[in-house]
Amino acid sequence: MNPLAATLCTQLGELLGAGAPLIMALESSIGASQDTRLDDILGKAIATLKAGGTLFEGLEGAQDVFGAQTLAALARAEALGELATAFKRAGNNTLASPAPSAPKASVTDGQAPVWMTVLMRGLDAQASDIHLEAASGGGGVLRFRIDGMLNTQETLDSTAMATLLASIRAAANLPPGQPRVPQSGRIELEVGQDPDTRRKLEVRVSVIPTMRGESAVLRIVEPSRILQHLNDLERIFPDPEQRQAIEKAALCSHGVFLATGPTSSGKTTTLYAMLMRSQPDKLKIVAVEDHCEVTLPGVTHMATNHRRGMSFGATLRGALRSDPDVVYCSEIRDTETANMLIQIALTGHRVFSQLHSPDAASALMRLRNMGLEPYMLAETIRGIVSQRLVRRLCPHCARPSEAERAKATSAYGADRIDPEATFLEPVGCPKCQHRGYLGRLPVYELLTLSPALYDTLYNASDADTLRRAIAAEPYERLADAALKLIQSGQTTATEVLRTCPPTS
Ligand SMILES: [Zn+2]
Repeated sequence: MNPLAATLCTQLGELLGAGAPLIMALESSIGASQDTRLDDILGKAIATLKAGGTLFEGLEGAQDVFGAQTLAALARAEALGELATAFKRAGNNTLASPAPSAPKASVTDGQAPVWMTVLMRGLDAQASDIHLEAASGGGGVLRFRIDGMLNTQETLDSTAMATLLASIRAAANLPPGQPRVPQSGRIELEVGQDPDTRRKLEVRVSVIPTMRGESAVLRIVEPSRILQHLNDLERIFPDPEQRQAIEKAALCSHGVFLATGPTSSGKTTTLYAMLMRSQPDKLKIVAVEDHCEVTLPGVTHMATNHRRGMSFGATLRGALRSDPDVVYCSEIRDTETANMLIQIALTGHRVFSQLHSPDAASALMRLRNMGLEPYMLAETIRGIVSQRLVRRLCPHCARPSEAERAKATSAYGADRIDPEATFLEPVGCPKCQHRGYLGRLPVYELLTLSPALYDTLYNASDADTLRRAIAAEPYERLADAALKLIQSGQTTATEVLRTCPPTS
């Protein structure tokens, strides 16, 4: 580290130890070292902090002055709320912590529990899950799920792997030793230094036995952030017309509204957002779920317990005794549940549920093929939304690409492609951690029953007639909605072909 920076760290450590806010501490150090490069760096860091960023983000590009190891340790200390101590240690040049990318060493750091060190790295990388997978020879691989995709972080030798697993077990109160059955636990913690920016986290831990040894997954859940997100309808449904149509269908006085799509496509977010809009202060809302990620204000959550005979059907029957107005069932797994939900809707309730099917049309076909009375479906189905999450191109580094144009043209046909549109491809920069994508965007299709479709269903037409009737409906298909995102430069044809390709 630059000696001037070391002096600065000592000074800052003292100032922070005296309780001075970080921005003031940094401002008071400008000019003290008589080094313009250092002053520039501090100026940029102060601006980043004032804009709501972290000190670590503010010090981007300052490795030559502070050293990568010091910056990594400061980032960790910042997340843990120990900046003052870290600054003092850095000034004394005793901050011997490894850089985040250093293999293995980071999980043997003695300053914080090793699992916490890994968690902080995951938080920095905006990971939703941390995967620790057993590899041959007792070692392991550490991977982060970021924007739905797994990214390998490092390989661990058998000692590091065992240390990390033991640390996770201890924190989650799981008994030590190799499990014969999957185990799960939960860790609650707060991270952050400033009371205004402190974050309350829940880490759901799963440890499973595998052929190569123990593996673990840490799911990072931040309930307050989820609740905040659920109130932000403009982010959940960016297209205003679509938002209105979905709200209209979902918030009917009675009837069934379904969300379909693969796992992690945002179905629960959509339905939770609609539950929050269902007037929980005036109506009784009961949610029946296999597992509940976050409890919603004003909503009664009931968990199924299959081992004790509380299937979805049995739990729903229990829920009905609580005089609900709105019922949410996290999954339609069988005909019994489907039948119950239709009956609940027929008796004047608003019902929300999820179904695994690739699109809205096949969800309706599936309900019909489950043997439900078609006229009851016609009377109750208010809307079926099918959705995906596509990765959003990083706006800081995306660049025009003829290859992307060619991909879109071949998938959609030349007549669907706007000759004026610019097609972009991912590049990678520090802002997106060199992934080329930053965050995700929802894509929707909404099928509602038009008079023609209602008649076809009501008259119990055969499957082919119903399929043709759905095909003739003019609603915007998933792939068409996704094409808009490609041509407006928000995502790539490659990403759309991976998640929701045009079918025909
Ligand atoms: Zn980028």
